Parts: sequence; structure tokens; C-alpha cells
Amino acid sequence: MIHIKTEEEIELLKESSLLVGKTLAEVAKRIRPGIKSIVLDTLAEEFIRDHGAEPGFKGYNGFPFTLCISVNEQVVHGFPGHQHLLEGDIVSIDCGVLKNGFYGDSAYTFAVGEVDEEVRLLMDRTKESLYKAIEVAVEGKRIGDIGHAVQSHVEQYGYSVVRDLVGHGLGRQLHEKPEVPNYGKRGTGIKLQEGMVLAIEPMINLGARQVVQLSDGWTIRTADKMPSAHYEHDVAIRKGKAEILSTFDYIEEVINAK
Ligand code: MG
Ligand code: MG
Repeated sequence: MIHIKTEEEIELLKESSLLVGKTLAEVAKRIRPGIKSIVLDTLAEEFIRDHGAEPGFKGYNGFPFTLCISVNEQVVHGFPGHQHLLEGDIVSIDCGVLKNGFYGDSAYTFAVGEVDEEVRLLMDRTKESLYKAIEVAVEGKRIGDIGHAVQSHVEQYGYSVVRDLVGHGLGRQLHEKPEVPNYGKRGTGIKLQEGMVLAIEPMINLGARQVVQLSDGWTIRTADKMPSAHYEHDVAIRKGKAEILSTFDYIEEVINAK
């Protein structure tokens, strides 16, 4: 069943979602060539706990870290570790928190130093596809409209949509119904209703859409080892215009100041 949230619950979801954005901004301050991704994980966990929340991913189905850190051809669910980020890498960082019984869940793909133009465009257009999806995430539209918005935006550039992983409802559980695929047909799927809260999260590949899982049991990478980008917002369905509960503002302040 789909949980329709009250205004009070949406406020709490917003508080959790904003904390994720602030956490990712703290992480953004430290992203540079040479840093080990485990350092980012440690600082994110401290920041979350200092703000009266718990990491939302750590321990979730046994996931061992606060952040999912996925580099280059890794799509999602990558492990932080002792390898250094390198000039020209892209790094998708997904963060969840649990505060007041509600989850926040947001992701952003960062450039490490200067990245190739083709990869920069993949990042920009993946983020654009997220906002295209949010434009149609309003009462009366359907889940398929969201997927269609993402798919039609990115496929015009020859990119492909990862289909094995999807967005989701968000609330007292990290993953609630409905599933929110990043591909689909207009006017299909369940109808969106005011008070639904969805995590919309396009995962877009420069090459083919196929992905494989690494032997760590978590990390998903592209089968062709070409780069992939991932952006995620939490949105409340409203009449006319979705309310974005998460934010990239803090992150982009940091990026723009670099
Ligand atoms: Mg996420
Ligand atoms: Mg998510």
C-alpha cells in the first residue's frame, strides 16, 4: 500500500531531506583529487549524528557505510574505501538519514577536479532529467509520466536509463511503494496523489543500460564500464507543482565557491 503523508509528516520528511543536503555539502567541501572516499564517509556520519539524526543507510539490509560512493562506471551502492579520488573522476554520492522516525534520501554526482566535456554533459543532462521528472510529479499525473520525462530527456543524447534500479516512496521506511522507474510510457501506472512522497533518482549511463553487481554484493557498475551519473530528490506530490523536500542549494554553493 502507498502511505499518503499528512502535512506534519511532510514537514518531518523535509527536515530529514534538508539534513541530507547539508551533509552532502559538507562532503562537497572535501572532494578533491587525492582524498580517500572513506574520509568522506566518516565526516558524513559525524555530521549526521551531530544533528540529532542517524545515518539512514548504515545497517540497512546490512549496508556497512553512511554513504554510497560510486566512482565513474559505478552506478550506485559503491563502498567508501581507501582508494584516492583522482582528477577527472566523477563520484556519485548517495546519502540517507533517519530523524524523528522519517528518512531523507538524496544523491548528487560530483566532478573531481576537471572532467572531460562528454562526462560533464552526462552529469548536467542527468540532473536536468531529474527536474523534468519533478515537473510532471503532480497530482493527477501517473508514475509512467515521471519515467517518460527522464527517459525522453536523456535518450535524445544517446544516453541510456538504468532499469534494474528505481526510485521509490519515502517515509517511515527508506523504500516504500510505489516504485518509480526512470523509464516508461506517458499516462501509465498508478495515479499520483497529493501527499505521496517520492524519491526520484535517475541513474543514467553514457553507454549501454546494462549493469552488473560486484562481488561485494552491493556495488552496481555499468557492464560496458562507461561512466554513469545519479541525482536524487525527495518530492511531495501536490496539486499543480511538486514540493521538493531535499535541496542541492547547499551543495552547489560549495561547488560554485571552489
Ligand atoms: Mg538515495
Ligand atoms: Mg533512493
